[in-house]
Amino acid sequence: MQTEVKKANMSSIAEIAKEFEIRPGQVFTVLNDLGISHDGQGFEADKETLELIREAALDQLDKKLITLKPNSSPRDIAFALDVPQAEMQKSLISKFRIMKAIGNPLSEDEAKKIVEGYGFEYAVASAVAAKPKPKVASGPKPGEKILRPPVVTIMGHVDHGKTSLLDYIRKANVAAKEFGGITQHIGAYQVTLPEGIITFLDTPGHAAFTNMRARGAQVTDIAILVVAADDGIMPQTIEAIQHIQAANVPMIVAVNKIDKPGANPDRVLQQLTEHNVIAESYGGQTIVANVSALTGEGVPELLELILLQAEIMELKADPKGQLTGTVIEAKLEKGRGPVATLLIEEGTLKAGDALVVGNTFGRIKAMTDYRGEKMTEAGPSAPVEVLGLNEVPAAGDKIEFFADERGARIEAEGRVDRARVKSLTTAGRGLTLRDLRSRMQDDGIRDLNLIVKADVQGSVEAVKGMLEKVKNDEVHAKIILSGVGQITKADIDLAAASESIVVGFNVKPEGEAKKEAEKRKVEIRTYSIIYELIEDIEAAVKGMLAPKFEEQYIGEAEIRMKLSFSKKGIVAGSYITDGKVMRNAKAKVYRGKDLVHDGEIVTLKHFKDDVKEMSVGQECGMTFGEWEDFQEGDRVEAFEVVQVNA
Ligand code: GDP
Repeated sequence: MQTEVKKANMSSIAEIAKEFEIRPGQVFTVLNDLGISHDGQGFEADKETLELIREAALDQLDKKLITLKPNSSPRDIAFALDVPQAEMQKSLISKFRIMKAIGNPLSEDEAKKIVEGYGFEYAVASAVAAKPKPKVASGPKPGEKILRPPVVTIMGHVDHGKTSLLDYIRKANVAAKEFGGITQHIGAYQVTLPEGIITFLDTPGHAAFTNMRARGAQVTDIAILVVAADDGIMPQTIEAIQHIQAANVPMIVAVNKIDKPGANPDRVLQQLTEHNVIAESYGGQTIVANVSALTGEGVPELLELILLQAEIMELKADPKGQLTGTVIEAKLEKGRGPVATLLIEEGTLKAGDALVVGNTFGRIKAMTDYRGEKMTEAGPSAPVEVLGLNEVPAAGDKIEFFADERGARIEAEGRVDRARVKSLTTAGRGLTLRDLRSRMQDDGIRDLNLIVKADVQGSVEAVKGMLEKVKNDEVHAKIILSGVGQITKADIDLAAASESIVVGFNVKPEGEAKKEAEKRKVEIRTYSIIYELIEDIEAAVKGMLAPKFEEQYIGEAEIRMKLSFSKKGIVAGSYITDGKVMRNAKAKVYRGKDLVHDGEIVTLKHFKDDVKEMSVGQECGMTFGEWEDFQEGDRVEAFEVVQVNA
């Protein structure tokens, strides 16, 4: 049984070499580095390990290192260098002066001489089998998936009580026995209730939420929308709703500040219906809790509702599975080095584990929880602060487990290189109208996601109304956020997270938003004429966003003389009265007010020389191709054709 599995997992060294256009001997180098044994032709690896090998193989392209086992024969070297055996046999004597049969073992010096003779560096393989495999999950046999705590993010308008609510829940539920109840801020904390555990992300607001999503990390299971009962729905409430809906995360509404005299929870629910958030008491499905973060009223019920929602969702993970997780927060601390808070998703993180985190790596030296208590293990949904990474990762970076630090380092270094290459060769993750069609084919994109911002609510509604009708069999325009006001950085974050195009009507991006859009390669299109906006989007949906050209006036010349040359035909001897004229520029020739010719300046001469352009005050000779009916006194207006929607 065991052998059957092994055979199924065998990979060919020659195939890997061919795929990455390297020599088989360079694949030996990869296998040696990663501590994987091979028989000279093939090796045994599971899917994950094979992926690791393939990534490392890519890095061998610009290296020239051939690793050979001791006592390799000329035949082995021929294979390693991808040289025909006959050629090797010939070179042995004629080039390398080695008198050995092709199958006989060579000394190290001899092997080195041959490898270097072919322009490669030579290394001797280390005792491979003794090394552990690079990548094995902490518990190699996946266990059973068990229920895990929900991960909750709190969002809402500024001052509606997000921080207060997080603080109240923490104080009331976290048994902070030491230091008079002071808990650490590590970016997330857990509360333990008789009915279950909840993990709260401690950075309220949708900026962090969307930022993480933009990086492909969605850690939030349930979003709490906080709305102050005395204030009602405010702009950031609407933004938060849109962000939550775009992420497809279940929402619980916490109507806060119900202790206040002016509180009107019912009005909040009414307002919410206008944004398609319908409370259960209004016949909808959205769960609502009335709370006071000040007095704590209603908070236990809110926590119960969270656990209830989690139960419905059946959130499960395997504590024995392959370790995965996400960076919630990270910083550099004096005396401690890079400090990162990780949220474990699958598997169990243990102190001493070697990890690759984004583009960095390290061995976990110390693990603490949100109470500052030492941990030795962290399972699914647990936030944990770790020390030992060699650099500060970014929030949203994924973690990966490695059995040894060396493998982790190789992987992390490879990633840095690849990231560099990628940043030089690809346009980033944003979507542009122009590449919509090819992305549709590659990625099967079916929705053209749009974020619509306009100057007044009336325009927002008008643009939305018209855009919602734009569709064909393949693509639909889908508005994932709309609002009044300038295009902000938050809009760009959401656009990056949801692969949207930002459309502005009578509004412009703020400075910061512009920079962010450039960085993230998010396309912003601004318009002041609604039909142009609709036309562009329609064209994009049809995949036919034709380049749009505009004639831009560049100068004017007066024809002073008709010059006749037998070979060159008739030339218009002209004087430039304004701007400049250029060869190949568009030319409109006027006689008085009448347009007598609409064509192109085909040749442009200064005396006998062909020139590219001539400026005001200069004399020149022009021809217009076939057309020679010009007269003295005709006016030539020159235009350059410029693409205006590039
Ligand atoms: P955030 O910006 O959403 O994080 O809001 P904060 O938590 O900072 O709260 C803003 C203000 O509202 C603070 O002065 C809080 O003390 C106050 N506040 C928050 N929750 C309540 C509440 O339930 N009742 C009352 N009366 N005040 C509250």
